[in-house]
Amino acid sequence: VISPLGIAEWHSASRDIMGTRITLTFWEDDTQRASDISQTVFAEFTRLDQLLSPYIASSELSRINREAAKGPINISVEVMRLLDKALYFGKLTDGAFDISFASLGRFYNYREGQKPTAEQWQIFRAAIDYRKIQLDRKQGTVFFAHPKLAIDLGGIAKGYAVDKAIEILDQQGITNASISAGGDSRLLGDKQGKPWVVGIKHPRAAKDNANDSNTALILLLSNTAISTSGDYERYFMDPDSGERIHHIIKPQSGRSASGVMSVSILGAQGFDTDPLSTSVFVMGVDRGLALINRLPGFDAVIIDSRGKVHYSQGLVAP
Ligand code: ADP
Repeated sequence: VISPLGIAEWHSASRDIMGTRITLTFWEDDTQRASDISQTVFAEFTRLDQLLSPYIASSELSRINREAAKGPINISVEVMRLLDKALYFGKLTDGAFDISFASLGRFYNYREGQKPTAEQWQIFRAAIDYRKIQLDRKQGTVFFAHPKLAIDLGGIAKGYAVDKAIEILDQQGITNASISAGGDSRLLGDKQGKPWVVGIKHPRAAKDNANDSNTALILLLSNTAISTSGDYERYFMDPDSGERIHHIIKPQSGRSASGVMSVSILGAQGFDTDPLSTSVFVMGVDRGLALINRLPGFDAVIIDSRGKVHYSQGLVAP
């Protein structure tokens, strides 16, 4: 956007990082400055991808997966924070959120339509157990107390990254911004006196349909994080069973979680809303709503497998 008079206006930029489309919009009067800020935000996403991606052999996450079952290994303060948070949600959700889902889950390939073989199933299924991920916070180490355990931070990394992006914008004096990384969004301030309009996708909308009929419902929001987990993002239809195989795994079974199609969680930070959306997806409508209703500062919108919409108490008019 060109602003020769230096009039404040919206700046928007998008990039594909962390396996998803990152979109950033913010209000700023200096075009050059806006461009520099965008670069800084995208550089932060790239840094986190290099740190946390399971597809990058040199990432810290890949190193942990190669070495942590052999003995305690040192990890960075930042990854310790992420693991600590992930294990906190493991405990809070009684194992619905479990980053060791990847022990078996890494053998699903949604793009190629592949699932674990019977043999992989037998070997790796038993390695799913977040309680076998042992952190020594004082020593700064992690140890996997199961030889086949592997972790993936796909259920928390993007929410964390979105928070880091907002931190950068805030430090730069930006007061109105929206950032989304796939299903994880966060809003800073409002849209210049109006709320931000955030649509929750219809989970069965046609993929190539780019108009409004894609939207199941609309929320008017400001200053909040919102994370959505859906069974329509990464999936394939199993030719054997005809079932939808998607990327949210029920740790107890090692299979795709069923019962709901979409879960959106509202809260202050992506670091919490991202893992909570995955958690509630696994827990289902009743247990999921019960969890959100007892956590102060969070709300949920759940679309169940029949298309019925359920709201947490905070979203229902008194
Ligand atoms: P995204 O933000 O990638 O669209 P979600 O926030 O819905 O996705 O999280 C789904 C991701 O979380 C999966 O791609 C996977 O990496 C990870 N995941 C899947 N099942 C679980 C689980 N039970 N516990 C923790 N993480 C999970």
